[in-house]
Amino acid sequence: MRQYLVTAESSSELKSKLKNIREKIEIENPKSVLVRAFLIEWHIEKVEEFSKVLIEELPMAEIVGCGSNGSIVDSKVMEGKHLFVITFFDKTKLQTLSYEFGKGFESVISNVICGEVDRRQNVRAVELFTTLLKMDARKFLGGIHFQDKSISVFGSNVMGVVPNATDDLKESAFILSKNGVVKSGAVVVVYLSDDLQVNLYRVLGFKPLGMEFLVNKSSTRVIEELDQKPAYEVYKNFLEIPNDENFVANTIGFPFMTQEYNHDVLRIPAECTKEGYIVSNAGIPQGRKIRLTYGNPGEIVEDIRNCREKVRQFKPEVVLIYDCILRKSFWGNGINLEIGPFDKFPSTAGFFSEGELFGVKEGIIHNECTFLLIAMRESEGVEIEPFEDKKIIASKEVSMLRRMATFVEKTTSFLDMAYKQMTILNQQLQMMNVQLSYMALTDELTQLFNRREIEQRIHNAFISARLLGKTVALIMIDIDFFKKVNDTYGHATGDMVLKEVAKIIHDQVNEDNGEAAGRWGGEEFIVLLPGYDSNGASKVAERIRREIEAHEFTGVGQRTVSVGVTCAKKGESEEDVFIRSDNALYKAKESGRNRVVIL
Ligand code: GH3
Ligand code: MG
Ligand code: MG
Repeated sequence: MRQYLVTAESSSELKSKLKNIREKIEIENPKSVLVRAFLIEWHIEKVEEFSKVLIEELPMAEIVGCGSNGSIVDSKVMEGKHLFVITFFDKTKLQTLSYEFGKGFESVISNVICGEVDRRQNVRAVELFTTLLKMDARKFLGGIHFQDKSISVFGSNVMGVVPNATDDLKESAFILSKNGVVKSGAVVVVYLSDDLQVNLYRVLGFKPLGMEFLVNKSSTRVIEELDQKPAYEVYKNFLEIPNDENFVANTIGFPFMTQEYNHDVLRIPAECTKEGYIVSNAGIPQGRKIRLTYGNPGEIVEDIRNCREKVRQFKPEVVLIYDCILRKSFWGNGINLEIGPFDKFPSTAGFFSEGELFGVKEGIIHNECTFLLIAMRESEGVEIEPFEDKKIIASKEVSMLRRMATFVEKTTSFLDMAYKQMTILNQQLQMMNVQLSYMALTDELTQLFNRREIEQRIHNAFISARLLGKTVALIMIDIDFFKKVNDTYGHATGDMVLKEVAKIIHDQVNEDNGEAAGRWGGEEFIVLLPGYDSNGASKVAERIRREIEAHEFTGVGQRTVSVGVTCAKKGESEEDVFIRSDNALYKAKESGRNRVVIL
């Protein structure tokens, strides 16, 4: 297998140059011939002319091709001419399938393609050129799964947007095929062979930078929100790239990275809307995680060289490069650093594409900003000496860029971590505050209000009672012979009794009415009853006394309490009331305990 590269500036020049190829076909008698045409032409009448010349001059050849942003000839960029990569196969048969279709027919056609490939024997590779911008790309590509997972699948999304175009040509796309020009749809070249080997290589080179974002809102081609904010804010906040006419150019070195079928893929902003939504040709589905990446020339070249070594070991007879046009923009004059290293391989040719298709066992990955290399051979292959490289571009800018990226990487992941820790600390602090304020009000053992809090509440209740001309009552409760409990059963059991008494008291108090129960000290408790007169308060007091008398205290049995009840009289000070309730309690003790005395 071998490859001839023909360049031409017009269809007539092509016609005359193809005579030479026809002679070669007669002499060499290949089993099949494939022409890949990369045209720098979008006017469909002109494209049709080229198509006609190819079909007429090479009737036995299969044809595929599209518009291009520049071609690769012998590992170098070629502009201003059309390129025709003509491959002679000695042991491989080719078949072309072409489909003209648009939106709504994605699944139907992908099913047809699968059927066509699956029913054929010895399919080694499938090359797919398709106009993905004219359909739901995810639906179409997602529907293509061949039964034989060892088939190499590769290809390209065909140019949809014409560079520097006049209005009538803003969006144009076409695919050449043996059956004529397809304007919307797909052309599939099926490689049938026992001997053909096709190896695919994919180089991204761009490295992730900073924290991860969640795509929480997106449609087919529009990434709307990242972490609940317009997607554009990531570029604004982290890279200070303004949303102006230079947005696309400025973001070229910083594509997004996400994953398809567990493989890293890049996504380049093709446009930023005024809402701050980012349009990407291949899109990113909702729910995916993404990160920014940066392109460091040194690291990209390193990855390219690693790829080249793998290609060398494969010993290809022909090499194709389908490289993304945006990488050409990224490199500028340095593009040779990416495509140049393959110049020792026999006939390295290709073009700059708008979406690189790469088959993995789970399906076809729709790449953007990706270097795709296709290496083929039908024989033992062509041996090439190992490469001896000079240490690459250790220029100041490059090492600065790398250092800066590392710095950003480290600081953002540090900030990310610090931010997360701060959030946790904040939550803990809030919880502690709630606990602390609760602790400040309550008595630890009984969970009733502590002395300070109940005094405060009584004080407030007296003030509002005075202002509103209402009554307020107090109940003082003291456990009878409590010392004995401690002495007989121990302090811990005494504590249990205190808790149980507190609970019984608390159950009789309606806090919604401003009623409150507190621990006055030791085994003494107080109940505040705003709006109660002596009569109402003594009913509550009696209920408490009875409940306690009837209660079976854990490990202690029956206990009783003595209770003093008072109601504040007009003009009386708080202190007077406290003294009177103390006296009432004292009277209850004096007169035999386990009783309620009202004063
Ligand atoms: P009276 O019927 O006259 O009230 O007899 P009393 O034994 O209950 O009265 P006294 O004032 O002599 O004893 C109260 C006891 O309460 C003394 C003290 O050790 C105990 N006490 C006070 N606070 C606590 C506490 O928090 N836990 C326990 N277990 N005992 C306490
Ligand atoms: Mg007591
Ligand atoms: Mg006491």
